[in-house]
Amino acid sequence: MSNSEIRYPLVELDLKKFRNNVDQAVERCGKLGIGLAGVIKGFTGIPQAAKEFADAGVDFIASSRLEQIQAAMDYGIKATYMLIRVPMLSEASEAVRLTDISLNSEVTVLKALNEEALKQGKIHKVLLMVDLGDLREGFWDKKELLDTAVMVEKELDGLYLSGIGTNLGCYGSILATPEKMNELIADAEMIEEAIGRKLDLISGGATTSFPMVLNGTMPKRINNLRMGEGIILAKDLKDLFKLDMSFMYQDAFTLKAQIIELKNKPSYPVGQLSFDAFGNVGTYEDRGIRKRALLGLGKVDVAYPDMIYPRDRGVEVLGASSDHLILDVEDAQREYKVGDIVEFDLCYATLVFVTNFPNVRIVCK
Ligand SMILES: *Cc1c(COP(=O)(O)O)cnc(C)c1O
Repeated sequence: MSNSEIRYPLVELDLKKFRNNVDQAVERCGKLGIGLAGVIKGFTGIPQAAKEFADAGVDFIASSRLEQIQAAMDYGIKATYMLIRVPMLSEASEAVRLTDISLNSEVTVLKALNEEALKQGKIHKVLLMVDLGDLREGFWDKKELLDTAVMVEKELDGLYLSGIGTNLGCYGSILATPEKMNELIADAEMIEEAIGRKLDLISGGATTSFPMVLNGTMPKRINNLRMGEGIILAKDLKDLFKLDMSFMYQDAFTLKAQIIELKNKPSYPVGQLSFDAFGNVGTYEDRGIRKRALLGLGKVDVAYPDMIYPRDRGVEVLGASSDHLILDVEDAQREYKVGDIVEFDLCYATLVFVTNFPNVRIVCK
């Protein structure tokens, strides 16, 4: 394909870099007896990447969305699939059909899954979620947790109680700590005592629990993590948690967009200030005449234009409207011209949007 035929914007995924990150996580967790669910929702389930998870030997391919699991299956990926968003009642049948295991916190849903499993002649596995203070999904009341676990074990013949899990940091910004893990283990042991057997899985959380693997503080009985961001981008642990993540690539994904206009213009809007395209009044700094580049990319593609990061450190994102991104390229390292491609690093918030948007092409290399 000649260069002019490649259409932008696009997201380029370097599968070798991605695979390195998966291998690193699998190995570091594996040494502690922790298996991984590779979470594919952060990149909208791009099947080539999901396949790298499977090839690297994760225990589960996981997503919050059944569509992505269906796509991975259609791509031919043989794996044990995990649904990590509590199933909607309206998707109980599909959840049982497409996945082997799901995370749960409602008796009504468990009963619906049980009926579906019996109807489909399957045993569907479940992990009961425990809310340890992050205040998203999970049982809050320990007695309700215990009663539900016993009910799954003794009464719901279409279900198998695999274990319990928790999620920290996604909503309530609560730190995953050894104390929280020990609380989860205590909950597991309470259930084990009541049902008279060991649980298979104690799932200690997502990327935010990975630091305990790295610094050796993860309590022994935690034997599963469900990781997305920390493998896909490995950016939050580096930038926010200040961990040495040099063993993973932060640039496996590259956003590429094309310059459609390049001109010297004033940096402060000229005229009477009113509202921008989204009903806000912008703030603008008068820095005199500056060289500005307009790109064929906008808020519709990335949602948060201030959370894409030009690889050219001299380039600054000034703002965006729905379909235009405006850059200051006065101090750019490169001499740009119309038609040139500008490359950006992404973060979780922008990766989920760009990979989801049908006009943004995905290219794997
Ligand atoms: C999204 C999600 C994960 C993965 O989160 P990351 O921060 O991407 O590692 C794990 N578990 C549940 C329940 C999730 O919703």
